[in-house]
Amino acid sequence: MKQEEATDPGIVFVWDLDETLIIFQSLLTGKYADLEGLDEKRRAEALKLGEQWEKLILDISDTAMLFEQVEEFDQPSIGHVAENDDGASLDDFDFGELNLKKPLTDAGKQKLAYLYRHIQALYAKGATHLLTGDKRGEWQGLYAATDRFTKGWLFAGRRLLAECATARLNSSGQTDPNRTAGPGSDSAGEGGLPPLGKRTVVLVSSGQLIPTLTKCLLFRLDPWIDPANVYSSKVVGKLQCFKWIRERFGGGNAETRFCAVGDGVEEQAAARMMSWPFLRVASGLDPDMSLPKIRLEQLTDLLADVKSKT
Ligand SMILES: [Mg+2]
Repeated sequence: MKQEEATDPGIVFVWDLDETLIIFQSLLTGKYADLEGLDEKRRAEALKLGEQWEKLILDISDTAMLFEQVEEFDQPSIGHVAENDDGASLDDFDFGELNLKKPLTDAGKQKLAYLYRHIQALYAKGATHLLTGDKRGEWQGLYAATDRFTKGWLFAGRRLLAECATARLNSSGQTDPNRTAGPGSDSAGEGGLPPLGKRTVVLVSSGQLIPTLTKCLLFRLDPWIDPANVYSSKVVGKLQCFKWIRERFGGGNAETRFCAVGDGVEEQAAARMMSWPFLRVASGLDPDMSLPKIRLEQLTDLLADVKSKT
């Protein structure tokens, strides 16, 4: 068994964030209303929800997550400056006085690495820790209203991530309804099915890193997304991020399988370049591909397809 687990190549799910796992930009721009053919009243509701999210995300990013100070220095991932972190205690560190300057020196990178460590600690505590008093109630109301307005889009994102992280696949890459999902129960059970193997959820967003982490918290995706597995493609592009992800998670095993999910042409083209199967999320014109309609089986079918061709 041990040997079988050690050689299991694992699966890496590479998710886009905006208008894929979450929805708010297209509420703000009117694109969602256009695609769904909404009337003026509903269009105004969409705009209001989008504006409220934008304000909340910027507010929490700038204040609690300290983005304002490091906006120009934000990295493609936490790992980019991790080696500059010497592990010093941050108890007395003043994050209000980072004073970073370009070009970023080693000392500057160290401050940034400290900040990311601090943010990881905040992330681990969850959004309820960041939002107090009236703000917490406002956020909870906004989340519920947006989920209702988008026909369960936000809930669907969380459900799919949970399934990606824990559902079981059989040897042909299909989900096995007879197996119970759950982390920590990876060994093969009755029936001699192969072990679950390693599942990894990675996020690649075109937004900057700290605001992306803020969104993960506010949209309640944090239970399934490790902040160290979040990438910002804003400066380097999606293809570069995908290459880093392949190197990091598949470097030691050419059999590791990757599957990308997104709504944009950039991630679609990048996935094609990597020869990864890609699932395109949409709404409106293709309602069957809106997130609430998508099932994990569509991802596992894509993976099984690739496997049967190799
Ligand atoms: Mg997107």
